[in-house]
Amino acid sequence: MRVTLLGTGDTTGTPTPGCECETCHTAADRGVERTRFSVHVENENTGESLLVDTSPDVRYQLLRDQVALPDAIVITHIHFDHLDGLGNAYRLFESLPVYAANETDPTTGESVAETIDRKYDYLDRVTVSPQPPLEPFETCGFTVTLLPVEHPPFLCYGVTIEDETGAKLSITGDTNFNIPDATRDQLADPDLLLADAIVPARLCDHHPLGGRHETDAGVPRTIGTKHMTMEGALSLAEELNAERTRLVHVSHFPTPEEAFGDHAAVDGERYQL
Ligand SMILES: [Zn+2]
Ligand SMILES: [Zn+2]
Ligand SMILES: [Zn+2]
Repeated sequence: MRVTLLGTGDTTGTPTPGCECETCHTAADRGVERTRFSVHVENENTGESLLVDTSPDVRYQLLRDQVALPDAIVITHIHFDHLDGLGNAYRLFESLPVYAANETDPTTGESVAETIDRKYDYLDRVTVSPQPPLEPFETCGFTVTLLPVEHPPFLCYGVTIEDETGAKLSITGDTNFNIPDATRDQLADPDLLLADAIVPARLCDHHPLGGRHETDAGVPRTIGTKHMTMEGALSLAEELNAERTRLVHVSHFPTPEEAFGDHAAVDGERYQL
């Protein structure tokens, strides 16, 4: 499979509009960016492509990175930066299956699948296919599984994508470090792990809720309630025995050295698994 990281940023992206910080300036100077989250996964055996999340930037991303239009979509959760690009499907597709979890979210009273169905009921050619979490399904010649993670207040899911050669991509989705064991078991041993890592742990001091899920050395692996720190994501990668790891959903709050360090992905990276 061929994986293209279309969007590796958080909800404001890097550069963030109107921001004069050093990291946003450095991104512009180097000609790199982090738009909102989407991952394109092409199955070279079938010629089909699967898109994980529809970034609000998805039209621009598909043109910029010159990847094929997706044959199917998987949505991890209903936050703006992962779902609200779906309107771009209008007039682009004859038919487009959209896979999402079928569990009712107590916060919304709907499953992710039901929220998508309701918000995009005007897109006749989009067909939402509700899926039970932790149960694999087939699309684009891949075996795909939605895996519960922890991203309050909404239900959110990680994703594994495997092909018939045994190649495996694991995506944590937006999550704090408190990922359930059943999900960790399924995410384990990937050829490539894409892990939510919004900021380095030192920035927990500036978050109103601070950090949680500390290492033995006292380093927080969760910032606030919603996201992993970079240290948390790397510690998860080690636990999961990931062959290769890229940190995604990175914000503009890290320094340039942190934001563009060894592990942090930028848009347009491609991986052959
Ligand atoms: Zn900035
Ligand atoms: Zn989110
Ligand atoms: Zn997000």
